[in-house]
Amino acid sequence: MVPTITKPIPFPSIPVFQVPPHPIWPSLSVTEKEILKTSIKQMLKEQNGVLVAHYYTDGALQDLAEETGGCVADSLEMARFGTDHDAETLVVAGVRFMGETSKILNNEKRVLMPDLAATCSLDEGCPHDLFSSFCDQHPDHTVVVYANTSAQVKARSDWVVTSGIALQIIQHLAEKKEKILWGPDKHLGRYVQKLTGADMIFWPGSCVVHEEFRSVALERLRKLHPGAAVLVHPESREDVIEQADVVGSTTALIKAVTTLPNNEFIIATDAGIFNKMKQLAPEKTLLEAPTVGEGATCHSCANCPWMGMNSLQNLAEVLKNGTNEIEVSPELALKAQIPIKRMLDFAKKLKS
Ligand code: SF4
Repeated sequence: MVPTITKPIPFPSIPVFQVPPHPIWPSLSVTEKEILKTSIKQMLKEQNGVLVAHYYTDGALQDLAEETGGCVADSLEMARFGTDHDAETLVVAGVRFMGETSKILNNEKRVLMPDLAATCSLDEGCPHDLFSSFCDQHPDHTVVVYANTSAQVKARSDWVVTSGIALQIIQHLAEKKEKILWGPDKHLGRYVQKLTGADMIFWPGSCVVHEEFRSVALERLRKLHPGAAVLVHPESREDVIEQADVVGSTTALIKAVTTLPNNEFIIATDAGIFNKMKQLAPEKTLLEAPTVGEGATCHSCANCPWMGMNSLQNLAEVLKNGTNEIEVSPELALKAQIPIKRMLDFAKKLKS
């Protein structure tokens, strides 16, 4: 009998996209900064708006969000905050998928962003049509996508996860013996697979910022600072994660700085996080994990170019002109809500 030859399913290749240079904003004097901040505060009040900022955005935006009753948080908390808040306008300082997630969960609210071109390499590298056909090739798999994806990719999934809850959700699915199709961040996917033993296949995306941390240079820095705890975001490469004392979401890494007894920390994630860490633990020494060294490119140098597109200047502009509104059709929002709400409900149960 002639054996049946099954063709291997081609592994998806991600499209080429442009990583912009880090934007350089004209520097503002203290007085100019204060004038801008006062005008933003006034406009937020008049428009019943609230500012929600990510930990990777400029420190001035993070501080302003907190001063005006908004929040600075990771993407899971940003989504929760916008949903629980009764403001009519959510101003999201972060990247596009964060604004879209807010709009998906709050379709009746106006969602503005300082720059609609602020995207993310994970989102850019996972277009809906290609991802959807990858899913179609694996109909027996539960589709789990990271929050860093478009509304359409979310709508194609069964679960949305953030780095704060990915491990627990994959553990939950692994216990139910479900096969998992994971996208788009391959490093985070492999990390949770390693810890849970889940049966997973991966979309080959990655974060341009976290990909740049280098293990050999990190080893060298650790030798120079033997008392330092190494904090690593799980979007980093495996050989960097292996050197971590703590691996976790931005919130988990900030907590580690305040709770661990170490006086020095080496941190492998976007440098924007230092703003909150310095506020909470001013006595600790914070060192950036190296993005230079053998084979390094240092395109971003631990500063996400898309997060850098948010500034006080363009935030004031959008509030003044009402531009840069995020649109997600109600039909698409309804579909994309299902896997996001599944995650939020799961998180609520875990908390309680
Ligand atoms: S830091 Fe990485 S994951 Fe975060 S927005 Fe930038 S490119 Fe995307």
